[in-house]
Amino acid sequence: MNYEPVIGLEVHVQLKTKSKLFCSCSTEFGAEGNSHTCPVCLGWPGSLPVLNELALKLGIKVGLALNCKVAERLKFDRKNYFYPDLPKAYQISQFDMPVNGKGELLIETKTADGKMIERKIGVTRAHLEEDAGKLLHEGIMDGSLVDYNRGGIPLLEIVSEPDLRSPQEAYDYLTALKAILQYVEVSDCDMEKGSLRCDANVSVRPVGQEKFGTKVEIKNLNSFKMVQKAIQYEIERQTEACENGEAIVQETRLWNDVKQTTFSMRSKEEAHDYRYFPEPDLVPFTLSREAVEELRKTLPELPRERAKRFIQEFGLSDYDAYVLVQEKKIAEYFESCIREGANAKLASNWIQNELLSLLNAKNNTIEDCLVSPHALAGLIRLVEQGTISGKSAKEVLQEMAATGKAADGIVKEKGLVQVSDTGLIEKAVEKAIAANPTAVAEFKAGKQKALGAIVGMVMKETGGKANPKVVNEILCQKLK
Ligand SMILES: [Zn+2]
Repeated sequence: MNYEPVIGLEVHVQLKTKSKLFCSCSTEFGAEGNSHTCPVCLGWPGSLPVLNELALKLGIKVGLALNCKVAERLKFDRKNYFYPDLPKAYQISQFDMPVNGKGELLIETKTADGKMIERKIGVTRAHLEEDAGKLLHEGIMDGSLVDYNRGGIPLLEIVSEPDLRSPQEAYDYLTALKAILQYVEVSDCDMEKGSLRCDANVSVRPVGQEKFGTKVEIKNLNSFKMVQKAIQYEIERQTEACENGEAIVQETRLWNDVKQTTFSMRSKEEAHDYRYFPEPDLVPFTLSREAVEELRKTLPELPRERAKRFIQEFGLSDYDAYVLVQEKKIAEYFESCIREGANAKLASNWIQNELLSLLNAKNNTIEDCLVSPHALAGLIRLVEQGTISGKSAKEVLQEMAATGKAADGIVKEKGLVQVSDTGLIEKAVEKAIAANPTAVAEFKAGKQKALGAIVGMVMKETGGKANPKVVNEILCQKLK
């Protein structure tokens, strides 16, 4: 029997506000422990929460970008559980009246045989809630420490429908969602700082069966790659269990990145009953449609729209366009190169294939890149005009990235100007033909590859500087 996976994702994103969701404490990351706290976020008796208007607006903007139905009336609820990271012993969240109801996210993804397809993934809801504090287990003393600086920071929890069918789709959904969050400028989406977190719900079922299998929740996923790997592992584990006739246990599992496996954290019996009830200190309120429409007007061009424009305006392939728009800054860099006169397809290739791998190797982002769009456009022009070879251009780009110098200066300095002088190349070609009678005979007998030896010798004769296009033209003429 064949099994198919059913996957849903829950993403928590920290909203970029200066103060917390219900008090005026700072949200700044990295401050001294418990220095950003007050009676409200420490849960002192008698303290009262006040909703942060900006957090609400940012939450609505995400909902609009995900085509969610924005609520007309919303309320907050208490989610009760006892744990040291929660000083009130409840978290203020939203239960039955979330700010954003049903929506959807269109993603580009690859099928198992490598075909690019578009998939529509349902969004169940996206609601506001406050973050919990942070427990530190490795410290200077026995026991654990707790830091409430994070407690009360605004979060938006974005819950997907169980529409995802492969680890690759889960990865592509997260990438597309992160791009939207960055474009709408609601979060820095830094997984290392915990401003973007993800839990995955995974089950398997026989292909053709409509009823879902028993689902397992996986937590502790610190990168998109980790989400992908954990889901893959879990699919294999559950499929094997099903094939052996074993029942799947409904439970929460954690990912162990060292062992590359998931392991059980708690079973359904140990799961919390949160006893949600309305937060009495925050009254339900109505959102005016005008206010929501005003927010819609502030939405920027979103990644998909931008990709569509890149395809139409610049003739890029679907794949190139979607890769370029994933990071807003890279998309902007690309457009700046075009404004500086670069050929769009060449700029796309140079950014994706060369510039980004140079930056990645040094752990740099496009923002601290020493090659300006103007400079990259200059390099591309030199290649286009045939002044330097593509191979030399890669060397030049490395130097540009290390020093911030312009391409033409480096080309002169290193003597990389390509020889396009036909007279000179002709002589080298004649010499190479004379020296390689076997290769010539083979070529004439229909073996295209035989030319390689002759071209190689011409390049050697010209110190690797002959324009390959000119070499090929002359060679073909001579051998006709
Ligand atoms: Zn506070």
